[in-house]
Amino acid sequence: MLNWLRRPKYSSLQRRDMPAGLWAKCPRCNNLIYRKELERNLKVCPKCGFHHRLTALERLEITLDQDSFEEIDAELTSTDPLKFEGYPQKLQEAKEKTGGAEAVITGEGTIDGYRTVIGVLDFHFMGGSMGSAVGEKVARASEQARDRQLPLVMFSASGGARMQEGALSLMQLAKTSAAVGRLHDAGFPYISVMCDPTTGGVTASFAFLGDVILAEPGALIGFAGRRVIEQTIRHKLPDDFQTAEFCLNKGLIDLVVTRSDMRSTVARLLSFFGAPRVEPVPVAAEPATPEPAQSRSGSSAADE
Ligand SMILES: [Zn+2]
Repeated sequence: MLNWLRRPKYSSLQRRDMPAGLWAKCPRCNNLIYRKELERNLKVCPKCGFHHRLTALERLEITLDQDSFEEIDAELTSTDPLKFEGYPQKLQEAKEKTGGAEAVITGEGTIDGYRTVIGVLDFHFMGGSMGSAVGEKVARASEQARDRQLPLVMFSASGGARMQEGALSLMQLAKTSAAVGRLHDAGFPYISVMCDPTTGGVTASFAFLGDVILAEPGALIGFAGRRVIEQTIRHKLPDDFQTAEFCLNKGLIDLVVTRSDMRSTVARLLSFFGAPRVEPVPVAAEPATPEPAQSRSGSSAADE
Protein backbone atom coordinates (compact mmCIF):
# COMPACT_ATOMS: atom_id res chain seq x y z
CA MET A 1 0.00 0.00 0.00
CA LEU A 2 2.81 2.34 0.77
CA ASN A 3 4.78 1.27 -2.27
CA TRP A 4 4.71 4.72 -3.76
CA LEU A 5 6.76 5.90 -0.83
CA ARG A 6 9.65 3.72 -1.95
CA ARG A 7 9.66 4.89 -5.53
CA PRO A 8 12.92 6.51 -6.45
CA LYS A 9 12.62 10.20 -6.18
CA TYR A 10 12.67 12.06 -9.46
CA SER A 11 15.17 14.58 -8.12
CA SER A 12 17.70 11.95 -7.11
CA LEU A 13 17.42 10.25 -10.50
CA GLN A 14 17.96 13.53 -12.20
CA ARG A 15 21.00 14.31 -10.13
CA ARG A 16 22.63 11.01 -10.93
CA ASP A 17 22.13 11.49 -14.66
CA MET A 18 23.59 14.94 -14.65
CA PRO A 19 27.33 15.31 -14.18
CA ALA A 20 27.74 18.19 -11.79
CA GLY A 21 28.77 21.43 -13.38
CA LEU A 22 28.45 20.44 -17.02
CA TRP A 23 24.82 21.35 -17.42
CA ALA A 24 22.69 24.16 -16.14
CA LYS A 25 18.94 24.10 -15.94
CA CYS A 26 17.06 27.11 -17.19
CA PRO A 27 14.58 28.15 -14.48
CA ARG A 28 12.16 29.52 -17.04
CA CYS A 29 11.97 26.89 -19.80
CA ASN A 30 13.41 23.99 -17.73
CA ASN A 31 15.71 22.98 -20.58
CA LEU A 32 19.12 21.64 -19.77
CA ILE A 33 21.78 23.78 -21.34
CA TYR A 34 25.40 22.86 -21.82
CA ARG A 35 27.14 25.23 -19.45
CA LYS A 36 29.84 26.22 -21.93
CA GLU A 37 27.18 27.14 -24.45
CA LEU A 38 25.36 29.19 -21.82
CA GLU A 39 28.55 31.07 -20.99
CA ARG A 40 29.31 31.71 -24.65
CA ASN A 41 25.84 33.18 -24.87
CA LEU A 42 26.54 35.65 -22.00
CA LYS A 43 24.49 33.42 -19.70
CA VAL A 44 21.33 34.03 -21.68
CA CYS A 45 19.28 30.89 -22.32
CA PRO A 46 19.63 30.05 -26.04
CA LYS A 47 16.21 28.40 -25.96
CA CYS A 48 14.01 31.02 -24.31
CA GLY A 49 16.15 34.13 -23.81
CA PHE A 50 16.07 33.98 -20.03
CA HIS A 51 18.82 36.17 -18.58
CA HIS A 52 20.64 34.23 -15.87
CA ARG A 53 22.18 36.29 -13.10
CA LEU A 54 25.79 37.32 -13.42
CA THR A 55 28.37 37.86 -10.73
CA ALA A 56 29.87 41.34 -10.50
CA LEU A 57 33.11 40.07 -12.02
CA GLU A 58 31.31 38.50 -14.97
CA ARG A 59 29.41 41.73 -15.52
CA LEU A 60 32.58 43.79 -15.52
CA GLU A 61 34.23 41.38 -17.90
CA ILE A 62 31.48 41.55 -20.53
CA THR A 63 31.00 45.30 -20.16
CA LEU A 64 34.45 46.86 -20.01
CA ASP A 65 37.33 46.93 -22.47
CA GLN A 66 39.93 44.34 -21.68
CA ASP A 67 42.38 45.26 -18.92
CA SER A 68 40.87 48.71 -18.54
CA PHE A 69 39.45 48.29 -15.05
CA GLU A 70 41.04 49.96 -12.05
CA GLU A 71 39.18 49.08 -8.89
CA ILE A 72 38.68 51.62 -6.11
CA ASP A 73 38.03 50.92 -2.43
CA ALA A 74 38.58 47.21 -2.99
CA GLU A 75 39.11 46.54 0.70
CA LEU A 76 36.21 48.56 2.04
CA THR A 77 33.86 46.26 3.94
CA SER A 78 31.14 46.45 6.54
CA THR A 79 31.84 45.97 10.21
CA ASP A 80 29.19 44.71 12.57
CA PRO A 81 28.06 47.94 14.23
CA LEU A 82 24.88 46.53 15.77
CA LYS A 83 26.44 43.25 16.91
CA PHE A 84 23.78 41.48 14.87
CA GLU A 85 23.73 37.78 15.54
CA GLY A 86 25.44 35.75 12.83
CA TYR A 87 26.34 38.78 10.71
CA PRO A 88 30.15 38.43 10.86
CA GLN A 89 29.85 34.79 9.74
CA LYS A 90 27.47 35.70 6.91
CA LEU A 91 29.88 38.39 5.73
CA GLN A 92 32.77 35.99 5.85
CA GLU A 93 30.88 33.35 3.88
CA ALA A 94 29.91 35.89 1.24
CA LYS A 95 33.53 37.01 0.91
CA GLU A 96 34.70 33.46 0.42
CA LYS A 97 31.92 32.71 -2.05
CA THR A 98 32.46 35.74 -4.28
CA GLY A 99 36.11 36.58 -3.70
CA GLY A 100 35.09 40.21 -3.11
CA ALA A 101 35.03 42.28 0.07
CA GLU A 102 31.53 43.66 -0.38
CA ALA A 103 28.32 43.41 -2.41
CA VAL A 104 29.48 46.05 -4.86
CA ILE A 105 32.62 46.45 -6.96
CA THR A 106 33.48 49.99 -8.07
CA GLY A 107 36.21 51.45 -10.19
CA GLU A 108 37.14 53.20 -13.38
CA GLY A 109 37.40 51.73 -16.84
CA THR A 110 36.55 52.18 -20.47
CA ILE A 111 33.65 50.91 -22.56
CA ASP A 112 34.47 50.91 -26.26
CA GLY A 113 37.12 53.48 -25.37
CA TYR A 114 34.80 55.80 -23.43
CA ARG A 115 36.08 56.51 -19.94
CA THR A 116 33.63 56.00 -17.12
CA VAL A 117 33.34 55.27 -13.43
CA ILE A 118 31.44 52.02 -13.00
CA GLY A 119 29.84 50.16 -10.12
CA VAL A 120 28.36 46.66 -10.17
CA LEU A 121 26.31 45.17 -7.37
CA ASP A 122 26.69 41.46 -6.80
CA PHE A 123 23.52 39.59 -5.88
CA HIS A 124 25.67 36.60 -4.93
CA PHE A 125 27.06 38.62 -2.00
CA MET A 126 24.31 38.62 0.66
CA GLY A 127 21.67 39.31 -1.97
CA GLY A 128 23.46 42.45 -3.12
CA SER A 129 22.21 44.11 0.04
CA MET A 130 23.22 47.68 0.79
CA GLY A 131 24.90 48.12 4.15
CA SER A 132 27.09 51.07 5.12
CA ALA A 133 30.07 49.91 3.08
CA VAL A 134 28.05 49.35 -0.10
CA GLY A 135 26.43 52.76 0.30
CA GLU A 136 29.81 54.33 0.94
CA LYS A 137 31.35 52.71 -2.13
CA VAL A 138 28.48 53.82 -4.37
CA ALA A 139 28.71 57.36 -2.97
CA ARG A 140 32.50 57.44 -3.43
CA ALA A 141 32.19 56.14 -7.00
CA SER A 142 29.82 58.99 -7.73
CA GLU A 143 32.23 61.48 -6.09
CA GLN A 144 35.09 60.11 -8.15
CA ALA A 145 33.06 60.54 -11.33
CA ARG A 146 32.46 64.16 -10.36
CA ASP A 147 36.09 64.82 -9.41
CA ARG A 148 37.41 63.34 -12.64
CA GLN A 149 34.61 64.77 -14.77
CA LEU A 150 33.45 61.35 -15.93
CA PRO A 151 30.07 59.65 -16.31
CA LEU A 152 28.84 57.10 -13.80
CA VAL A 153 27.43 53.72 -14.82
CA MET A 154 25.82 51.57 -12.13
CA PHE A 155 24.59 47.99 -12.62
CA SER A 156 22.20 47.13 -9.80
CA ALA A 157 21.15 43.72 -8.52
CA SER A 158 19.98 43.86 -4.96
CA GLY A 159 17.39 42.72 -2.48
CA GLY A 160 17.55 46.17 -0.86
CA ALA A 161 18.92 47.53 2.39
CA ARG A 162 20.97 45.15 4.56
CA MET A 163 18.84 44.30 7.56
CA GLN A 164 21.84 43.35 9.69
CA GLU A 165 22.80 47.02 9.81
CA GLY A 166 19.30 48.31 10.55
CA ALA A 167 18.90 52.09 10.35
CA LEU A 168 22.52 52.49 9.25
CA SER A 169 21.55 50.72 6.03
CA LEU A 170 18.57 53.00 5.58
CA MET A 171 20.86 56.01 5.86
CA GLN A 172 22.63 54.81 2.72
CA LEU A 173 19.52 55.68 0.72
CA ALA A 174 20.01 59.35 1.58
CA LYS A 175 23.78 59.22 1.18
CA THR A 176 23.81 57.58 -2.26
CA SER A 177 20.91 59.75 -3.47
CA ALA A 178 22.74 62.90 -2.37
CA ALA A 179 25.94 61.74 -4.06
CA VAL A 180 24.35 61.11 -7.45
CA GLY A 181 22.47 64.39 -7.00
CA ARG A 182 25.80 66.22 -6.69
CA LEU A 183 27.02 64.48 -9.84
CA HIS A 184 23.87 65.64 -11.59
CA ASP A 185 24.36 69.22 -10.37
CA ALA A 186 27.91 69.17 -11.68
CA GLY A 187 26.55 68.21 -15.10
CA PHE A 188 27.89 64.68 -15.52
CA PRO A 189 25.67 61.85 -16.72
CA TYR A 190 24.60 58.86 -14.67
CA ILE A 191 23.39 55.70 -16.41
CA SER A 192 21.59 53.21 -14.20
CA VAL A 193 21.14 49.62 -15.35
CA MET A 194 18.69 47.48 -13.42
CA CYS A 195 19.42 43.78 -13.44
CA ASP A 196 17.51 40.95 -11.84
CA PRO A 197 16.48 41.73 -9.13
CA THR A 198 16.57 45.44 -8.29
CA THR A 199 14.37 45.92 -5.27
CA GLY A 200 13.90 47.61 -1.90
CA GLY A 201 16.24 50.35 -0.78
CA VAL A 202 18.31 50.24 -3.96
CA THR A 203 15.29 51.03 -6.15
CA ALA A 204 14.29 53.61 -3.56
CA SER A 205 17.61 55.40 -3.95
CA PHE A 206 20.33 55.52 -6.59
CA ALA A 207 18.98 52.89 -9.02
CA PHE A 208 15.96 55.00 -9.97
CA LEU A 209 17.89 58.28 -10.09
CA GLY A 210 19.74 57.67 -13.36
CA ASP A 211 19.57 60.24 -16.13
CA VAL A 212 18.96 57.21 -18.30
CA ILE A 213 17.57 54.02 -16.78
CA LEU A 214 18.06 50.75 -18.61
CA ALA A 215 17.03 47.26 -17.55
CA GLU A 216 17.68 43.70 -18.61
CA PRO A 217 14.73 41.72 -19.99
CA GLY A 218 12.62 40.06 -17.34
CA ALA A 219 14.43 41.72 -14.44
CA LEU A 220 12.38 42.00 -11.26
CA ILE A 221 12.15 45.67 -10.39
CA GLY A 222 10.18 46.93 -7.44
CA PHE A 223 10.18 48.28 -3.93
CA ALA A 224 7.98 46.09 -1.74
CA GLY A 225 7.26 42.46 -2.54
CA ARG A 226 4.27 41.48 -4.60
CA ARG A 227 2.47 39.68 -1.77
CA VAL A 228 2.84 42.61 0.61
CA ILE A 229 1.32 44.95 -1.97
CA GLU A 230 -1.52 42.55 -2.79
CA GLN A 231 -2.39 42.22 0.87
CA THR A 232 -2.23 45.96 1.39
CA ILE A 233 -4.34 47.07 -1.54
CA ARG A 234 -6.47 43.89 -1.61
CA HIS A 235 -6.21 43.54 -5.36
CA LYS A 236 -4.76 40.89 -7.58
CA LEU A 237 -1.78 42.31 -9.43
CA PRO A 238 -1.10 41.63 -13.12
CA ASP A 239 1.22 38.71 -13.92
CA ASP A 240 3.94 40.89 -15.37
CA PHE A 241 3.85 43.29 -12.41
CA GLN A 242 7.33 44.43 -11.33
CA THR A 243 9.10 43.23 -14.45
CA ALA A 244 11.39 45.39 -16.55
CA GLU A 245 8.83 45.28 -19.36
CA PHE A 246 6.02 46.39 -17.05
CA CYS A 247 8.14 49.30 -15.80
CA LEU A 248 8.94 50.31 -19.38
CA ASN A 249 5.29 50.17 -20.29
CA LYS A 250 4.43 52.45 -17.37
CA GLY A 251 7.19 54.91 -18.18
CA LEU A 252 9.34 54.18 -15.13
CA ILE A 253 12.42 53.23 -17.13
CA ASP A 254 13.76 54.23 -20.53
CA LEU A 255 14.77 51.04 -22.29
CA VAL A 256 14.89 47.27 -21.92
CA VAL A 257 18.14 46.06 -23.41
CA THR A 258 19.19 42.47 -24.03
CA ARG A 259 22.53 41.47 -22.57
CA SER A 260 24.12 41.09 -25.98
CA ASP A 261 23.26 44.72 -26.79
CA MET A 262 24.00 46.20 -23.36
CA ARG A 263 27.66 47.07 -23.86
CA SER A 264 27.10 48.79 -27.21
CA THR A 265 24.03 50.61 -25.87
CA VAL A 266 25.92 51.99 -22.87
CA ALA A 267 28.82 52.96 -25.16
CA ARG A 268 26.42 54.79 -27.45
CA LEU A 269 24.96 56.68 -24.50
CA LEU A 270 28.43 57.60 -23.25
CA SER A 271 29.24 58.88 -26.72
CA PHE A 272 26.00 60.86 -26.83
CA PHE A 273 26.79 62.46 -23.46
CA GLY A 274 30.27 63.39 -24.66
CA ALA A 275 32.30 61.10 -22.42
CA PRO A 276 36.07 61.42 -23.03
CA ARG A 277 37.50 58.68 -25.20
CA VAL A 278 40.95 57.18 -24.97
CA GLU A 279 43.08 56.65 -28.07
CA PRO A 280 43.72 54.17 -29.45
CA VAL A 281 40.41 52.54 -28.69
CA PRO A 282 41.17 49.37 -26.72
CA VAL A 283 40.26 45.92 -27.91
CA ALA A 284 36.91 44.82 -26.60
CA ALA A 285 36.92 42.17 -23.95
CA GLU A 286 36.24 38.81 -25.55
CA PRO A 287 32.48 38.56 -25.00
CA ALA A 288 31.91 35.83 -22.49
CA THR A 289 34.35 33.09 -22.78
CA PRO A 290 34.66 33.42 -19.04
CA GLU A 291 37.24 30.89 -18.09
CA PRO A 292 36.75 29.23 -14.74
CA ALA A 293 38.35 32.29 -13.15
CA GLN A 294 34.69 33.17 -12.83
CA SER A 295 34.21 30.21 -10.57
CA ARG A 296 35.26 32.61 -7.85
CA SER A 297 31.52 32.78 -7.42
CA GLY A 298 31.46 29.02 -7.17
CA SER A 299 27.81 28.95 -8.03
CA SER A 300 25.92 27.84 -11.07
CA ALA A 301 23.95 30.30 -13.09
CA ALA A 302 20.72 28.66 -12.17
CA ASP A 303 21.12 28.05 -8.49
CA GLU A 304 20.04 31.36 -7.13
ZN1 LIG B 1 15.34 28.91 -21.03
